[in-house]
Order: sequence, then C-alpha cells, then structure tokens
Amino acid sequence: MKYCSHCHQWKDESEFSRLKSAKDGLQYYCKTCNNAYHQVYKLRYLEAKRKGNRNWRKNHKEQCSKIARSYSKRAAENLYDRYIIQRLRDSLGLPTKEIRQHPDLIERERDIIKIYRVKKQLLKKCTEYGTGK
Ligand SMILES: [Zn+2]
Repeated sequence: MKYCSHCHQWKDESEFSRLKSAKDGLQYYCKTCNNAYHQVYKLRYLEAKRKGNRNWRKNHKEQCSKIARSYSKRAAENLYDRYIIQRLRDSLGLPTKEIRQHPDLIERERDIIKIYRVKKQLLKKCTEYGTGK
C-alpha cells in the first residue's frame, strides 16, 4: 500500500504510475489524482494560450488582416502546392513523392495555370465588350 499525498488515501501500488526518479519508483500522486491534475493543468494551459492568441490578435490587427488577406488570395487562386501536385499527378501519372522532388515542375505548372486564368479573363472581357460587331 502507498499513501497518496493528494487525496490523502492509502491505495494499492497498482494505483500509482511509475516514476524512476522517486525513491520507491512510483509517482507521489495516485493515477486518479495525477490524471485530474494533468487535466486541470491542460485546461489552464489551453485557456492561457487562447487568451494569448486573442491578445496578440487585438494588438496586431493590421498584421492579422494582412495574413488573412494573403491566405484568402492564395485560396481564391487555388494555387496551393497540394492542388498543383494533384493536377500534375493526374496529367503525368507520376507519384506525389516524385513530383515533390521537382519544385521547378510545380512552379511551371503554377505559371501555366496563372496564364490560363489571365487568358480566360481576357476572353471574358472581349465577349463583354463585344468582338467588333
Ligand atoms: Zn490520490
């Protein structure tokens, strides 16, 4: 039997986790107390982190909106590496791993998509303005 210094109860040794640095090789608190303790610690940590994030956002509004803008811009363009790799995989039939080893290939595909999109936009503008009718 071992005394838990947290819940002040005598419990079977099997109720204690191992701790090499302790004299008897067991944790000071029983498993139940340890779990509860870690749960509280975790919650406290998460709460502090959330608060920290919130404060950071409050103090860096300009920076935040800049980051959000750049994210949404890229998302709108759908030019994430993942998307491009998927396109290359479909058109070339190469495995993702091999495509990742050729960043120049990814960049080229990105340029092709960009050009294609500009072309599409121009064509749309042309039809909007009328093609010389
Ligand atoms: Zn206990």
